[in-house]
Amino acid sequence: MKIRYWGTRGSIPTPGKDTIVYGGNTACLSVEIGESILIFDAGTGIRVCGNDLMSRGKKITTSLFISHTHWDHIQGFPFFIPAYVPGNRLTLYGPPSDIQDQGLKQIMEFQTKYEFFPISLAQLGADIQYVNCKEGKIDTGEFEMYTCRINHPIACLAYKLVHDGKVFIYGGDHEPYRNIYRDGSGGEGMDEDFLEELDRNAEEQNAKIIDFCKNADLVSWDGQYTEEEYQSKIGWGHSSHEADIELARKASIKHMIITHHEPMNSDEKLAVIEEKVRARTAGGSCRFDFAKEGMVVEL
Ligand SMILES: [Zn+2]
Ligand SMILES: [Zn+2]
Repeated sequence: MKIRYWGTRGSIPTPGKDTIVYGGNTACLSVEIGESILIFDAGTGIRVCGNDLMSRGKKITTSLFISHTHWDHIQGFPFFIPAYVPGNRLTLYGPPSDIQDQGLKQIMEFQTKYEFFPISLAQLGADIQYVNCKEGKIDTGEFEMYTCRINHPIACLAYKLVHDGKVFIYGGDHEPYRNIYRDGSGGEGMDEDFLEELDRNAEEQNAKIIDFCKNADLVSWDGQYTEEEYQSKIGWGHSSHEADIELARKASIKHMIITHHEPMNSDEKLAVIEEKVRARTAGGSCRFDFAKEGMVVEL
């Protein structure tokens, strides 16, 4: 598998001279296996990915796996040129809304309503299919793929691709589960048995994610914050680097690439943070890297 990062930034694109190294486009990554191409998330990075596919001069058949439908994970889709070309075939996989009764197709269509964008999805020339995904094994017709629900304010999935004895995991946005009433958020005076039950629930949910990632060869994971930054962003749905290190250790992950970089962090700052993560994990069994736009990893 050849994995390529087209977008590494979280939340909002950050073009400019301070983000050239780690990148300014939002979430998108492709996995090439032989002639097949799988794409994970459709942040603004997918525009460049689409241009690359178009430059190959062939009909395009691809699967696009959406972790969740926050803007930074779907906003590039209307600029994905292969979707405009008759004869191309796209299959979009992703979770339906857990807030209202809407599937992936309806949510994707919503962002191209005329109030937001001049061309509706129905006008695109390619054959586009939508598959609502739940947790478990999903039928891609070609590759072995599993999903796991992760912790974010809306339904969000991590995807596990198993191929040729290798396991690659693409995580969407995730904050480790916790008992929110243990952190002074109104839990004072609550029944201790109830609080302990919430502790256990959070622990079980975290254990499920550790199990999903167990012994993975490569995990691309949300690491938006330093531990210090995280303290004022608790509940926003993202991980700190410390939490990522802990996940990698508990799940015996071999290689973790931290992505979804905080928009406030410049190249200079990210280089310092990356070095700290490497120093902190030196001698451990998991290698850590920070994703950079354009970075290619062979697995
Ligand atoms: Zn995001
Ligand atoms: Zn999100």
